[in-house]
Amino acid sequence: MKQPLPKGFKVLEVEEKWQKKWEDMGVYRFDWNDKTCPTFSIDTPPPYPSGEFHMGLVLNWTYFDMVARYKRMKSYNVYFPQGWDCHGLPTEVEVEKLHGIKKTDLPPDKFRRLCEELVSKNIGVMKKAITNLGCSIDWTTEYKTMDPNYWRRTQLSFVLLYKKGFIYRGTHPVNWCPRCETAIADAEVEYETRTAQLHYIRFKLEEGGFLTIATTRPELIPACVTVAVNAHDERYKRYVGKEIHVPTANRTVEVITDDLVDPEFGTGVVMICTYGDKADVKSVSKHNLPVITCVDEKGEMTQNAGKYAGMTTEEAKKAIIEDLKKEGLLEKIEPISQEVSVCWRCHTPIEILEREQWFMKTRILTDQIEKNALEIKWYPDYMKYRLIDWAKSLDWDWVISRQRVFATPIPIWYCKKCNETVLAEPDWLPIDPRIENPKIDKCPKCGSNEFKPERDVLDTWFDSSISCAVHAGWPDRKDWRRLFPADMHASGVDIIRTWAYYLMVRHLALFNEKPYKSCLINGMVLGTDGRSMHKSFGNYVASQEVFSKRGADAARQWVAGGGATGSDIPFRWPDVEYGWRFLIKLWNASRFVSNQLKDYILDENARHVLQPLDKWILSKAERLTKRVTDALERCQFNIAMEEVRNFTWHVFCDCYIEAAKDRLYKPEFHGEEKRKAAQYMLYNVLYRILQLLAPITPHITEEIYQTMYAEEKGYRSIHLSPWPTLDIKSMDEEAEKHGDLIMAVITEVRREKAEKRMSLNTQIKRLTIYAGGKGTAEIIMESRRDISGTCKVADIEIVPEEREGREIKPYSNISFVAEY
Ligand SMILES: [Zn+2]
Ligand SMILES: [Zn+2]
Repeated sequence: MKQPLPKGFKVLEVEEKWQKKWEDMGVYRFDWNDKTCPTFSIDTPPPYPSGEFHMGLVLNWTYFDMVARYKRMKSYNVYFPQGWDCHGLPTEVEVEKLHGIKKTDLPPDKFRRLCEELVSKNIGVMKKAITNLGCSIDWTTEYKTMDPNYWRRTQLSFVLLYKKGFIYRGTHPVNWCPRCETAIADAEVEYETRTAQLHYIRFKLEEGGFLTIATTRPELIPACVTVAVNAHDERYKRYVGKEIHVPTANRTVEVITDDLVDPEFGTGVVMICTYGDKADVKSVSKHNLPVITCVDEKGEMTQNAGKYAGMTTEEAKKAIIEDLKKEGLLEKIEPISQEVSVCWRCHTPIEILEREQWFMKTRILTDQIEKNALEIKWYPDYMKYRLIDWAKSLDWDWVISRQRVFATPIPIWYCKKCNETVLAEPDWLPIDPRIENPKIDKCPKCGSNEFKPERDVLDTWFDSSISCAVHAGWPDRKDWRRLFPADMHASGVDIIRTWAYYLMVRHLALFNEKPYKSCLINGMVLGTDGRSMHKSFGNYVASQEVFSKRGADAARQWVAGGGATGSDIPFRWPDVEYGWRFLIKLWNASRFVSNQLKDYILDENARHVLQPLDKWILSKAERLTKRVTDALERCQFNIAMEEVRNFTWHVFCDCYIEAAKDRLYKPEFHGEEKRKAAQYMLYNVLYRILQLLAPITPHITEEIYQTMYAEEKGYRSIHLSPWPTLDIKSMDEEAEKHGDLIMAVITEVRREKAEKRMSLNTQIKRLTIYAGGKGTAEIIMESRRDISGTCKVADIEIVPEEREGREIKPYSNISFVAEY
């Protein structure tokens, strides 16, 4: 005697129950001891603990989780880790804001502690959200990049790359955020279109007369090192090589030619400063020009700016414009729309400063990146070009040092006497050189025993970009190569240039191997109005609101069905509602099935007398299995979900169950054998549906499985049950054709009742079907009992000829006449 499902499905209760049970049961643990099943490792990106698990992350994590669950059911030993990328600017900025301080107001260890507190709190909130989403993470793998045990790995990778020659210290221009007071990498620079003012300024020629240059940044005039024109610009040819006065500064520079100068921009004469933009950097290195730094780390004017020293750049700009006006050197000012480089975190326009920094050689790897990107399987395929194009576009190596506090320390000291660089040895790690001395007695070069620490710290990407190796167990597990490269790296389209790129360069440099074999890319979540989702746009939806209203299984259906993998998807409440209604439909159908199976005993060897409609649903279920499997293999989640949802709702519930009811209810009329056959189909097709849905809606499928199937099937969880293998011999095109015809007859008769506003239970005294041919008549004849049972027909007659009646769509030669 089987237990039927209870009435009413309590979504939130059921979800919470399973989230807890799965963890207690250890359903999602990777089995290190299992050497028989193939492994499948996912490189889960450790998120930055902002404290908010927004809908974009819901999209990311649902994608990863659907893959993990599918692969687990495909009998892979799945490794689905979770870490937290704690360090970095965003947390520091947040702590400064929260406590109303600047990082320099506190000793570094105190400031660091405030950061750690905030991060731990935020991780708690986000971990809860990942759990609420029903992600099948192996939580025994959890790690935090701010823990000394992770520093050890980051620092070891630094030491190894240093020894391999990939890391160097040098004075180069870097992107600098004057608000955050740190160097930032190209990947952290964003571009905003702003309206700027183009100033036309006269530079006096030594020989008399003047040239007018156009610039948006007159405050950089004190850093002007040359004035340039295009060599092909006939207007200015005769001035090349002439000396020209730099206004407000008491010096002259030479007029030169440079191909980078656009004759169409402004007057076609430009000043080259150190540095206004990246073009200036190129010109300086090409023409071997001097560097005059007039802006410092805080965005203030230096001594090189003469009387403007100490002013902010904004103040200096105003003062210089005033002085130019007084001297009659300012011709005019025009508005101009301009792309401004800004800090990704605080949106302050960046400066380009020359400063001693640590760099990693990345550009020498560009060819290898391209080769590997082409070898990797990308979902969707075109995303590989985002990585390749980005790698090729880079002008500079990666600046990996930061002038911040909350980060992994660089394991380096310098000899106070001879300035020799001392690199930590692997067995000293983790180490904070700001607190500890190198573990050597004296400087290997001069014998001094006094050292000063490197105070700069590492870019946070330097922590997280070794995740593929760390997840695999590097450097502690001897067998780490078993899970390396990761089978899949997964992340958002907006961070290919960071996550995917940095992972690639770091692992190529460290291990001479690509870090991942495939790359799954998701798009962005847009707001309900189709614009990007943002709190200030009023289109923001918090994930907790969705979870607490309709639960995770409904939210996951929105993700899966939102659009093609890789495309941006708008958040739509109606999709969540539809998902929720589907859960209710599935629950009610399962409850019906469970009630019909009270006396059903599974017997794999029993031979059932399958009716045409049984063979029909069996074949359709097999075909569905093939389609869903193919779609999941290609990470086409929207196709997989639509297929299984349509099948469940329309083929299984609306058609098969309705047509089978009479057989189930009236064995005395149809025969016990036929009832058994219907029970057998209900049992198996529902099980198939649950299995195919399990990666998408893990909670409801588990609940139904545990009540109806667990005892007989014997798997601890539906998520540990093997994915259905295709049963080719059940796929029967003829059975499907015949069943489609029978279902069309039933549907059309029921439709007529509905149009006549009759109840579906209204008796039809006599139903005459004009089959339009002998073959069709025989097919309909075979299922006449299902038809008359479902349509409540007292007397059914099947005529082989084609005659006038209500047409049974889409068969133009078949019709019927019903007498009520
Ligand atoms: Zn900034
Ligand atoms: Zn020394």
